[in-house]
Amino acid sequence: MAKIRSDIVATARCYEDGCGGMMEGRKGEYKYAESGLNSVILKDILVFHCTKCNAIVPEIPAAGVLHRVIALRLLRKRSLLTGGELRFLRKLCGYSINDLAEIMGSSKNVVSRWETHAHGEGTERTIRLLVLAKLVREMVGQPDPILRNISVEALSVEIENTLKLIQSRSVDEKYEISPEEIAHLGGEENRKPLVESTSLAVV
Ligand SMILES: [Zn+2]
Repeated sequence: MAKIRSDIVATARCYEDGCGGMMEGRKGEYKYAESGLNSVILKDILVFHCTKCNAIVPEIPAAGVLHRVIALRLLRKRSLLTGGELRFLRKLCGYSINDLAEIMGSSKNVVSRWETHAHGEGTERTIRLLVLAKLVREMVGQPDPILRNISVEALSVEIENTLKLIQSRSVDEKYEISPEEIAHLGGEENRKPLVESTSLAVV
């Protein structure tokens, strides 16, 4: 969903097949529901709106960086993750429900229940550490790491300290993410209009 208030700063031909309408691009915020989360708001991005078919197409920054910026926010959360947040992190790690069940010594049904109902504090901490391990693997020894300007040492210490502070209840938080935060952690990257929903399976 986009809030559109500002002036038109760009136009483009509609991306929808067979529409041919003109899209008006304005700076605004966009609820990034494609992430599978209702809580992620992208601030100050270009959102195109087709005046003919009403399609809304945001210019999403590089999804690989964005998804890791979201993951960092979740790792820093000081209360239990919601089921949807857990699912987001599982997918970011590239795990199927079955993969995570095997790693956790659990069953598919139990993992599904974590993602739809609730999970315990031990599960929560283990999953955060799995995500940390995933991010560290990506940061170390890569000629062109996805995340920049953050060290393995600083990240590990920060996550360790967060684990000490997690409150044993689940709280819905909003994650507002600015272009500056993405640029800082991912370097300047080309932005692409999001024509099809971004699949977390391919990040
Ligand atoms: Zn259109």
